[in-house]
Formats: sequence, structure tokens, C-alpha cells
Amino acid sequence: MDAFTPALDLLLSDGLLIESGVNGLYGRSGVFEDVLQRVEALTRTVAAQDGAMVMRFPPGMSRAAFERSGYIKNFPHLAGVVRCFCGDEPAHRALMRSCDAGEDWGAELASTDVVLAPAACYPVYPALAQRGVVPDQGWLVDVAGYCFRHEPSREVTRMQWFRMQEFVRVGTEAQVLAFRQEWMARAGALAQVLGLPHELEVANDPFFGRAGKLQADGQREKALKFELVIPVNPGAPPTACGSFNYHGEHFGRTWGLQLADGSTAHTCCVGFGLERLTVALFRQHGSWPGHWPDELRGALWSLPC
Ligand code: ATP
Ligand code: ZN
Repeated sequence: MDAFTPALDLLLSDGLLIESGVNGLYGRSGVFEDVLQRVEALTRTVAAQDGAMVMRFPPGMSRAAFERSGYIKNFPHLAGVVRCFCGDEPAHRALMRSCDAGEDWGAELASTDVVLAPAACYPVYPALAQRGVVPDQGWLVDVAGYCFRHEPSREVTRMQWFRMQEFVRVGTEAQVLAFRQEWMARAGALAQVLGLPHELEVANDPFFGRAGKLQADGQREKALKFELVIPVNPGAPPTACGSFNYHGEHFGRTWGLQLADGSTAHTCCVGFGLERLTVALFRQHGSWPGHWPDELRGALWSLPC
């Protein structure tokens, strides 16, 4: 048993998560889902005054857009692609032979135009680029959905399929950085409402390989990423439940997002891990929401869900 198994076992034995046989892939009970929906509603209530444009996408995205965004260059180890059987009957027989023998039948599948969305914000940049020049007030998008990352683990907060609520800001450097700053303050207040101990830390993305280490160091030096961290596993470092990511001109250049003066737009995204916040609540306050502090129940159960 590793250090993380007890937290997962508790959520499974209390019926909040449902085992699937694959690490990091769980069903959610009605109670878990109810709390998660309320956490999502809370983040959106905090954002309500901003008047963000809502976009929702399926949990898959265009492979071409995914490649162009640089994900496969930076995070090949986390990517998930959709492959399908497109062969004839002999190929199907070969597939079934492999399958019946308990072998890997993946060789009989071909890539499709779809990959699994690794973050809620990835389909937003190409969608905004279709709208032409960025208006003077910039763009602000509320986007949420299931994301896939191939990181199987018994650590309850490191799932393979999980949901993110994100707010994406596109505009001048000043607009984007002010938005990120504002959200860092809001996130602390949000954790407070949830009764969760928390801190904000400089962080880095898990870039692949040796070159990735340099990218990660550079990201930290420039403070491009901050995380809202919350203790979930006793004795282990706290878990990132929210992140505040400044991309500079990366997505602006990639997707041709242009400001009215012809310069490249800057972007940032603020993302909350909805399963992580929900798990943190159950770890902190116990498995029965009926027993949670009145103040917390008042905050979550007064929301329109
Ligand atoms: P980590 O450092 O834990 O790997 P990350 O930096 O890769 O996370 P982001 O890409 O910033 O995470 O994703 C936004 C948010 O999505 C994170 O703050 C976290 O709350 C959530 N998240 C990321 N990966 C997972 C996962 N494997 N399972 C559940 N939630 C996740
Ligand atoms: Zn994002």
C-alpha cells in the first residue's frame, strides 16, 4: 500500500467514488456529484459579475488544433488520442485473434481526427480566432468540461478523467495580468468559504523530458504559473486545486489572435479542478455533507444548481 491509498480507499468505501478497475478512472456517486456541481456553481457565482461568454465543448477536440497548440510537443506522456477500427474483415479477424489471446489489439486501430481534451481551455483559442480581431475590452470565456490526462495513479486527486472549470482571458498584457491577479485573490476567498486551508504557490507544468526541465525552470523563474494548493493527503505536499496560468503571446501567436493595433494578444487561463476541490471538501469535512459546518452548507446549498 502506498501513502495515497488510504484517501482513495476511504472515498471508495464510503461510496463517494466507484471503482472501475483502472487507476484514476472512477464513477461518482450522487452525493459526490451534487457537491461537485455546487462547487462549480460557486466558482461561477464568483465570476458572475465579469459577464463571461459561456462556451462548452465535448471532451474531445480536433487533433489538428491539438497538434498546433503544442500539447504533443510539451506533454506527450499525458496525451490521449481516439483511435478507431477502420479495417476490412480480415483485419477484424486479426483484431479478434489478438483480443481473444489477451494481446494488445491497438495495432489494428487507426488514428482519427479526434483527441481527448487535456484542458478545458484548449478548444477556446481556435474558436476565438474565428471571430477576428480581439475587441478593445478583450475576450473573457467561461469554459468547463471533462479533461483526460494519462496519469494513472492511486492518488485520489490524480485522476485520468476529471473536470475543469476555467476562465480564459484574452487581451493586452495588462488586461490579462490584472485578471489573473484578481482571480488569485478570489481563489483564496473561495477556499475560505469552503473551509479549506490553502496557499498560493509558484508552480510549473509537467513538461516532458530533459528539455522540459528547462522549460519548467523558466516558467517558475518568470512566475508564469501559480497554484492554489490545499492539503488532501496527510504527510504529502498539498494538492493543486486551482491554477493561474499566464501564457504570454504563446496562444495568441499560435492562433493569430490579434489586437486592434495589429499586435499579438496575450492570454491567461484560471482553472479549477472540480474533482480535486470536491475531494478536498470530503477529506476536510468528512464523507457526510449533512454533518458539514452550517456556514459551509449555507454557502453551497443556497446556490442555484
Ligand atoms: P499537477 O501539477 O497536479 O499535475 P497541473 O499543473 O498539470 O496539475 P493544470 O494543467 O494547471 O494542472 O490544470 C488545472 C487544474 O486541473 C489543476 O489545478 C488541478 O486542480 C486540475 N487537475 C490537473 N490534473 C489533474 C488530475 N490528473 N486529476 C484531477 N485534477 C487535475
Ligand atoms: Zn487553461
